[in-house]
Amino acid sequence: MNIILLGAPGSGKGTQGDRLEKLFNIKKLSTGDILRHEVKEKSELGMEVKSVIEAGGLIPDEIMIKLISNTIKLVEYKNGFILDGFPRTLAQAKALSTMFSDRKIHLNAVIELKVDEQILIDRVSLRYSCAKCNMSYNNKFKNTEVQGVCDNCGSNDFIHREDDNANTLKERLNIYHVQMEQILPYYKERQILYSVNGMNDIDDVTNEINIILKSAPNILT
Ligand code: AMP
Repeated sequence: MNIILLGAPGSGKGTQGDRLEKLFNIKKLSTGDILRHEVKEKSELGMEVKSVIEAGGLIPDEIMIKLISNTIKLVEYKNGFILDGFPRTLAQAKALSTMFSDRKIHLNAVIELKVDEQILIDRVSLRYSCAKCNMSYNNKFKNTEVQGVCDNCGSNDFIHREDDNANTLKERLNIYHVQMEQILPYYKERQILYSVNGMNDIDDVTNEINIILKSAPNILT
């Protein structure tokens, strides 16, 4: 099964992606995580994208499309994937469709997580993640079960993203709204778009996505 999660920064794509990974035994593929890893490693790509990420801008389509094209080939995605953070522009969405049809990959569903702007701002300013396994948490809405210990891998090391600050977030939200005006109709026309209220309780959001996926056409492909 292959799905796309769409949603503004803080809408819960990371959290739901982590849960869907376990529920459906498919891998989350977060372009933001990949890029942050490259920045951390100071790779050529990392050095190229660092300042754009810090400013809350978008990395050029050409780079992102190449990155996704090379990544989905990897063996870890052979059971399927949950795309988080891609596509972010109509050009990326169209390139993805071409990639899928060339490689005979079936896209089962595109799930949009809808969250009001003020809630996004609260969530993003309070979120943090495990430095080792990347599991996402939030100081107000979803802390670790044992304080200072990652529920998933037991690490004691946590990070707060540098681009999760008020100014950068404003830019990221503006870009998100502009781009979604083109991306949402693209998937709606293809009758593959489902919207979920991302302001509900985390478990309820997961349940709703689960119900959608189980009733989506060709779910077993
Ligand atoms: P995210 O973790 O999805 O919020 O992504 C963090 C940052 O990485 C974004 O603000 C962009 O600068 C960059 N990025 C991630 N995915 C994409 C994409 N598909 N297209 C362009 N830029 C991206």
